[in-house]
Amino acid sequence: MISVAIDGPAGAGKSTIAKMAAKRLNFIYVDTGALYRTLGYGAHTGGVDIHNEAELESYLENSRVELKFIDGEQRVLLNGEDVSDKIRTPQMGTAASEISAIPRVREYLLDMQRALARTNNVIMDGRDIGTVVLPNAEVKIFLTASPECRAKRRLEDFRQKGENVDFDEVLRLIVERDYQDSHREIAPLKAAEDSVIVDTSDLSLEQSVEKIISTIEEKK
Ligand code: C5P
Repeated sequence: MISVAIDGPAGAGKSTIAKMAAKRLNFIYVDTGALYRTLGYGAHTGGVDIHNEAELESYLENSRVELKFIDGEQRVLLNGEDVSDKIRTPQMGTAASEISAIPRVREYLLDMQRALARTNNVIMDGRDIGTVVLPNAEVKIFLTASPECRAKRRLEDFRQKGENVDFDEVLRLIVERDYQDSHREIAPLKAAEDSVIVDTSDLSLEQSVEKIISTIEEKK
């Protein structure tokens, strides 16, 4: 089995690029951010105080998070309900970032991520895949781009979905989330020492995909 770890900040294009590369290489693409978003979503809608240890524990014990692959497309289920679309809002990004800073939550999701890589060729994207989840991944890539560039791309995604969000607000949330993700005590966002750093600020989508595929072909 071959594992490709792709880490990097919010909006660097990880999911779009990794999804396309996985399709061409016939690997499964695992978006681990969706797992944290799902737990963030469930806690938010259920009014769970995630900083209350007992409340959090009972919430986790009663939550069943599952990943399914339908036509190669990842769907995420919370207690049987497909929440894949509901978790794609800037607010759920923030909720994910908050809940993901709790060690118990990261531990809760660890086995599931590792199990997928044991049984499939994967391209897995997240913040700590090369550093914590799959430290022995054959290929590690740290995908990044300037905050302005990432905000512009995110804005485009939201507009395409018919959602009207403000550039400054998206940029503010990105900068805030970068800070929170890189400064937390557990599994902070950082490039693994043995990762290849790819900056997509000046690359088109196609060029970024090419770059990722050539890096994988070279390293695997
Ligand atoms: O990638 P995405 O924006 O969907 O991730 C949402 C949040 O989940 C991130 O900002 C980060 O706080 C958290 N996350 C994480 N570790 C991962 C993937 C995501 O902590 N492997």
